[in-house]
Amino acid sequence: MRDKYQLLVNREYGDSSDGTWFDTYNPATGETIAQVAAATKEDVDRAVDAARQALETGKWARWPASRRGQILSRVASIMRERFKELVQLEVANSGKTISAAQGQVHQAIEVFAMYAGAVHTLSGETKPVPQGFLNYTIKEPVGVCAQIVPWNYPLMMASWKIAPALAAGCTVVLKPASLTPITAHSLAEICHEAGVPPGVINVITGRGDTIGAYLTEHPGVDKIAFTGETSTGKDIMNRASDTLKRITLELGGKSPSIVFHDADLEAAVAGSVFGIYYNTGMSCEARSRLFVHEQIYDEFVDAFLEKTKKLKLGDVMDKETHVGAVISASQWEVIDSYVKLAVDEGARVLYGGGRPEGEEFQNGHWYMPTIIVDADNDMGVAQEEIFGPVVVIMKFHDEKEVIRQANDSIYGLAAAVWTKDFSRAHRIAAQLKAGTVMLNNPFSAMPGLPFGGYKQSGFGRELAIESLNLYTETKSVNAYVGSKPLNPFGV
Ligand code: NAD
Repeated sequence: MRDKYQLLVNREYGDSSDGTWFDTYNPATGETIAQVAAATKEDVDRAVDAARQALETGKWARWPASRRGQILSRVASIMRERFKELVQLEVANSGKTISAAQGQVHQAIEVFAMYAGAVHTLSGETKPVPQGFLNYTIKEPVGVCAQIVPWNYPLMMASWKIAPALAAGCTVVLKPASLTPITAHSLAEICHEAGVPPGVINVITGRGDTIGAYLTEHPGVDKIAFTGETSTGKDIMNRASDTLKRITLELGGKSPSIVFHDADLEAAVAGSVFGIYYNTGMSCEARSRLFVHEQIYDEFVDAFLEKTKKLKLGDVMDKETHVGAVISASQWEVIDSYVKLAVDEGARVLYGGGRPEGEEFQNGHWYMPTIIVDADNDMGVAQEEIFGPVVVIMKFHDEKEVIRQANDSIYGLAAAVWTKDFSRAHRIAAQLKAGTVMLNNPFSAMPGLPFGGYKQSGFGRELAIESLNLYTETKSVNAYVGSKPLNPFGV
């Protein structure tokens, strides 16, 4: 790890124009691990200009797609070689467990490998037009892309965005979250080592509400791909409207998981524990609302509690650790305030709440895996995104009622259903308003499968081959090829 992370513009590292820095931390220990350049608006202008130059005068967008594909494939290879280092950096800067970081770095590699092949799907069409005409469409890169990512999956989210943008021939200004800027720099460095030309990827670091906001209204930016909070997404949409930028928004969630009485109980409990506590609950698709059929409610809650008690917190570099630290002191306070709200609303904390006991948890930001029961779906704790290791378990009576409750949310990112009745599973999948539905498993995001939200969880899909379309414009070329000159007015 470096002591200082500068800005990366046009393949050159440099300080910010006013020479200011901010600290970045290890959330598991609370220690400062590096200093990071705080970009100014002037720096954003330079980064956008570099991306524009690279797009318009550089070769990247003009190269055959297969050549870009070869470079993306090389990015994946170098990431594989530097796997251990990437995992260590991600753990050190995010407080997540090593096993979670390994899975996420692995997925980031797969994403580059997938888009390396997917470049060959970039193609236009010929259309049936009247005799004497020839029409064809061309897929062109959408342009300069501002890519703004959150702190919960720093490297993976950057990869979900950079890989399709590069595949399509776009150029990028990447803004990582201020809390987790380190692996974005590693990724850009790897891209350059793999042969991505100067200016195609630029990395600026700093506050979201200042330089992030400035980037989203910048006239030199053609498209914004954003992952983060729904409220930030709304702000970005407003700012981007003046120049009508193309936008993809991957936002928050409050995903339901529905467990029927005929489910494989062991699998449903294990999958639901993973579904909320993976990544310390700081997942947009965390299944934070559990609806359990009344017939098995008590049995399920007992088994869920038993498994939750077995979760290991602590040394994030230990492969056996299941739950890592919360990202920051302020996020810790947000989580804790929701647990207190639950009690104020009349719900009950069955397990957890607050900081775990033990010396090793007194520094850094540690929160107990927490189970809330006796709650209703209309309580704040069941409606608002907490973004921490807190689950609300509720009882339901019948299928119709639970579908209504599951859909009763401003969000619609993901949902899970646990049942052995396959006709019920597919019937419910069809009625859930969610971008991803998991039937009898807890895995929501795999390379190749479209990922994104309904309702206020955003729009646009990432991670799939068709996501490439969101990084292209379609140009229709209409040619007259007849032998007689056209004279539409007949004059
Ligand atoms: P956030 O919205 O606070 O910040 C995300 C990024 O936006 C950061 O880089 C931040 O610096 C920047 N930013 C903040 N304000 C900005 C502004 N006004 N203009 C432009 N940029 C701005 O989100 P977060 O707290 O970093 O991440 C957690 C959120 O991300 C949760 O709501 C979670 O559900 C969501 N998330 C969604 C997905 C998904 O795929 N749908 C995936 C991961 C995380």
